[in-house]
Amino acid sequence: MESLETTAISDRARPTGISFPAEVAKAFGADFLDPERCGEIVLAWIHPGPAVCPRCGLVLEGRSLARFQSFGRVHCRECGKFFTATAGTALHKVQISPSQIVLIAYLLALEVDLVEISRAASVDPETVRLWRLKFAALARGGRGK
Ligand SMILES: [Zn+2]
Repeated sequence: MESLETTAISDRARPTGISFPAEVAKAFGADFLDPERCGEIVLAWIHPGPAVCPRCGLVLEGRSLARFQSFGRVHCRECGKFFTATAGTALHKVQISPSQIVLIAYLLALEVDLVEISRAASVDPETVRLWRLKFAALARGGRGK
């Protein structure tokens, strides 16, 4: 166990009035989240079933499935369609990363102020407001567009 004396010495070198939790809150952002895990969470959200070609319904496997899961461009070997995992979903042509989406969703769930969320996710407050509407529309069964 650390002695009280050691703690006191290290605190003496630190300027007063700076809260570590406040500093962490200031530094925290989407880049603190695991991009792969956030991608999995977002993918499971937009594709609750198996990964399929949006045109012919072919179930993806192998390299096609891996490309789909990494949000890469997939070429359907059955019908020839090119598509990504976001095609035809609420995330089609979305410019923010899965980590940013997960962070926005998480902070919205905690009812954090929109301006704070926008700062943490490095997006405009209007973007946060639109995502709140999108999440609500999806929860009601809409497509979130
Ligand atoms: Zn197809």
